[in-house]
Amino acid sequence: MSLTHSSIEKVEEQLAAALRENAELKRALADTEALFHMLPVAIAYSSDPEAKQIYLNPAFAEMLGVNTGVNVAVLENAWHLLPYRFFRAGTEVRGDDMPLPKCARTGREVKDELEVLRADGRRFYIYGIAKPLLDADGRVKRAIGAFLDVTDRKKAEQDLERSLAATQAANQELQQFAYAASHDLQEPLRTISTYMQLLQRNYEPVGEAAEFMGFIVEAVRRMNTLVRDLLTYARTGASSKRVPVNLNLAVQWVTANLDQSIRETKAEITCDELPTVVADESQIIQLFQNVLSNALKYRSEEPPRIVISAEEGPEFYTISVGDNGIGIPPNYHAHVFGVFKRLHGREIPGTGLGLALCRKIVEGHGGKIWVESDGKHGSVFKFTLPT
Ligand code: ADP
Repeated sequence: MSLTHSSIEKVEEQLAAALRENAELKRALADTEALFHMLPVAIAYSSDPEAKQIYLNPAFAEMLGVNTGVNVAVLENAWHLLPYRFFRAGTEVRGDDMPLPKCARTGREVKDELEVLRADGRRFYIYGIAKPLLDADGRVKRAIGAFLDVTDRKKAEQDLERSLAATQAANQELQQFAYAASHDLQEPLRTISTYMQLLQRNYEPVGEAAEFMGFIVEAVRRMNTLVRDLLTYARTGASSKRVPVNLNLAVQWVTANLDQSIRETKAEITCDELPTVVADESQIIQLFQNVLSNALKYRSEEPPRIVISAEEGPEFYTISVGDNGIGIPPNYHAHVFGVFKRLHGREIPGTGLGLALCRKIVEGHGGKIWVESDGKHGSVFKFTLPT
């Protein structure tokens, strides 16, 4: 076959174009390589589809304490030669389980957090993403991953976890202490009460003596109530059993309990359709019991009108218990949920633990409790429970 002049020219043109393309590709490759070298992000990339040969850019090499551009052979028997080790959640990670080989093997993106232990004893955490690079047929050609040193974030997380654990332990200790103290206080109280009864019966005191004994009896009775409420408060939340609780049934149960004072005060309770929530049943009954008995106790001149309703949100139900009672001034809204916090004297009986217990119950279920009131026209107690 003989080539004509024009066909030679054509071949020459094609050759020149191919050379140009080749030069451009080389330039692009050189640019990419320069970028890999310059970037302060740790980058690893494989040259083979199984990610057995891994190259590290200078940032990664420096991070691991190895020579720049080191070529890491990810072979099972070569691992012990590496001057660093990787751990995932405390377990050493090797070979196939490393982010790049794993990503090459599965053909999927891999997000990983690893603890690195260097030969010189340095420990730090890295977080990164490895992605497979596919050829035209969708087969894995190689894998590439970028990693960041996340030691500071990890340390902050660990510090937070540690202080949370310490606070929980301290809380538990305090709870056990409150429980033991209130439990042990009951015994001497019973003794005082018994001997007071004996004194009253055997000596039939008169005048000042009778009056003083009356004060003691009253103080002991009050102390008894305080200790009982404190015991309930300390005990609540210790062991919580979650079951589906129909809130309408819980309210019915409580209104039956409060029947006598509902009748005495001529109270009217309206209850909308309430949801069923997964919760500790006896705690939910206690919650309604405290809020409803307060609505009866802190009533105004009018007979109590109590409205219970529920609203469904994306994550929580908000339950509202509104009353037409004496209300709570806005600057006391947070105060009333504190332990032993009361806005009233002895004229209205109470220990100041009812709402503190409500808060403990609601927060124990992951919800929040608050009150809305202008201090004149009743109060609305609201709490959230997970849907
Ligand atoms: P207690 O009723 O035993 O005093 P709580 O912790 O249940 O204790 O309530 C704390 C205080 O909040 C009460 O002393 C009262 O002053 C106020 N309070 C509670 N519920 C209501 C209400 N529905 N209306 C007005 N004040 C209330």
